[in-house]
Amino acid sequence: MQETTKHKTRVFSGVQPTGNLHLGNYLGAITRFVALQAEHECLYCVVDLHAITVFQDPDELAHNTREVTAAFIASGIDPARQIIFNQSQVSGHAELAWIFNCVARLGWLNRMTQFKEKAGKDREKASAGLYVYPNLMAADILLYHATHVPVGEDQKQHLELARDIAQKFNNDFAKTIAREDYPGGFFPLPEPIITGPATRVMSLRDGTKKMSKSETSDMTRINLTDDADAIAKKIKKAKTDPEPLPVEAKDLEARPEADNLVGIYAALTGISKDQVLREYGGSSFARFKEALAELATEKLTPIGDEMRRLMADPVEIDRILADGAKRARDIADPILAKAKDIVGFIRG
Ligand code: ATP
Ligand code: MG
Repeated sequence: MQETTKHKTRVFSGVQPTGNLHLGNYLGAITRFVALQAEHECLYCVVDLHAITVFQDPDELAHNTREVTAAFIASGIDPARQIIFNQSQVSGHAELAWIFNCVARLGWLNRMTQFKEKAGKDREKASAGLYVYPNLMAADILLYHATHVPVGEDQKQHLELARDIAQKFNNDFAKTIAREDYPGGFFPLPEPIITGPATRVMSLRDGTKKMSKSETSDMTRINLTDDADAIAKKIKKAKTDPEPLPVEAKDLEARPEADNLVGIYAALTGISKDQVLREYGGSSFARFKEALAELATEKLTPIGDEMRRLMADPVEIDRILADGAKRARDIADPILAKAKDIVGFIRG
């Protein structure tokens, strides 16, 4: 990864504590988080401020915040080397988001597909927070001058908006930024990292919709905490089509459900879809689903077990979050102070 002018490489990403973490979160985001920590300074945030853009029961929110933290650690992120924290413990996120509310344009937000999907038909009833969600996400990243953001494919549009916000801030405040030593602009333009074998895992019940935590039916997703029986049942009941599996991956194109299941198998084993079809091409879904259930169980249940072990000690999880938040504030505070100077706010 290239260093941008004056900005050292720093990785930031977040996961919402909105419910059951699933295979999409794991393959699209968390496995990337784990891979990046070997060579980079990383901040991984449980984004509770984002979660409440849709109402959350307070007790469940606290439980889910701890559970996402446990999932990060159980998947292999080291909280001693990297920073794991929950967003609401660092007030700079909300402060910078306000500044960005005044930088971003309504026209930009109106194009966001996530808002349209989550607000649904009755937009008048969506929270104002859901609408400005992408501005807060830009603040999450830029508060740390983060340069790289590993996310699933669904977050690409929000990352582009974060770049637009950084660029507009750099232009709008060019006069005061010039007084500081930031020749490439005060905020770096963060780059998305949308890589890995499964950047968009689809619902088990509808191959055209992404797998989501907030989807009401639990049968649409495989949760990290599911046991072998639940995994087998969900995969067995997953929607398919009447044809046997094709021999080549290109023939999966018009078959979204088959494509998704083969993609999941490939991602879990670290091989290509063509390689999967070399073994299962021509076979029935019944046989393939059995093999997939076994594979998913083998890969996911140890993570679920470790999450349960960690969740048995919530005091230790809270200690990890508080320690992470302190270290996050150490990075954020001077950046936020400088942003305030640039905007023209007087500080004591
Ligand atoms: P919600 O439905 O509440 O928005 P979510 O399942 O979309 O939940 P988020 O917390 O919004 O999960 O996203 C966390 C990370 O997981 C993001 O990087 C996002 O891009 C990624 N992600 C979410 N769903 C998928 C998916 N189906 N496939 C791949 N990556 C995904
Ligand atoms: Mg989401």
